[in-house]
Amino acid sequence: MNVAAAALVLAPALALGSFLNVVVARVPARRSLLRPPSSCGSCSQEILWRDNIPVLSYLLLKGRCRHCEAPIPIFYPLVEFVAAALIVACVAVFGPTSEAALAAGFCAVLVTLSAIDVQLRIVPNRIVVPAAAVALVVHTAIAPSAEWLLAALAAAGFLFAVVLVYPKGLGMGDVKLALLLGAVLGASVSVALMLGLFAALVPAVVLVSRHGTDARKMGVPLVPFLALGAVVTLFLGEWILDAYLGLF
Ligand SMILES: [Zn+2]
Repeated sequence: MNVAAAALVLAPALALGSFLNVVVARVPARRSLLRPPSSCGSCSQEILWRDNIPVLSYLLLKGRCRHCEAPIPIFYPLVEFVAAALIVACVAVFGPTSEAALAAGFCAVLVTLSAIDVQLRIVPNRIVVPAAAVALVVHTAIAPSAEWLLAALAAAGFLFAVVLVYPKGLGMGDVKLALLLGAVLGASVSVALMLGLFAALVPAVVLVSRHGTDARKMGVPLVPFLALGAVVTLFLGEWILDAYLGLF
């Protein structure tokens, strides 16, 4: 564990989490990331810097806008907290290394794509395609191997086959996400996909049991589950794979 390094990245990680909220709110709508400054979704009053401190401001304001007292969606501090926690965990586990930087960037993208998928049911090309390309180039540079490219193609190919069989369950956005997962996780992407698809079955089964055949129309956003499988694999992948192979 690299506690000192992890403590150092906490504040920048929270700031990045805050920026991810801007990405989530603006990139799908094709708005500028820089202008205008953040404002309240209810009264449009510009948010002061002291009311824009990640997580802390939400707690101090008790989840309400300083001006109009409209509730601030819990989504914002949640994105900040989860992103920061994952980034700090990457540095704590992998140390101050280029692997940790790759893993932290990976987690930041996964949080962003999950938040967008939950709200809008889309996976923006403008995020997932460059993220997959950068991850592939960086990982190949850090640890030269064909594994990252092959795993990216295999993971995307596998989900593409699932799309062909079951087009209602997932879409091409999930296939592009699989490219990113494979580029970072390598061979253990198989573990991530299995965990993610299995985790997504739980809400799907709950929906069907509650709403019967209507549940088929509701669908479940898949990205958060694939992201969950990917994060668990990122930290525990080798251990899971060893345990699994140890069964035989
Ligand atoms: Zn307001």
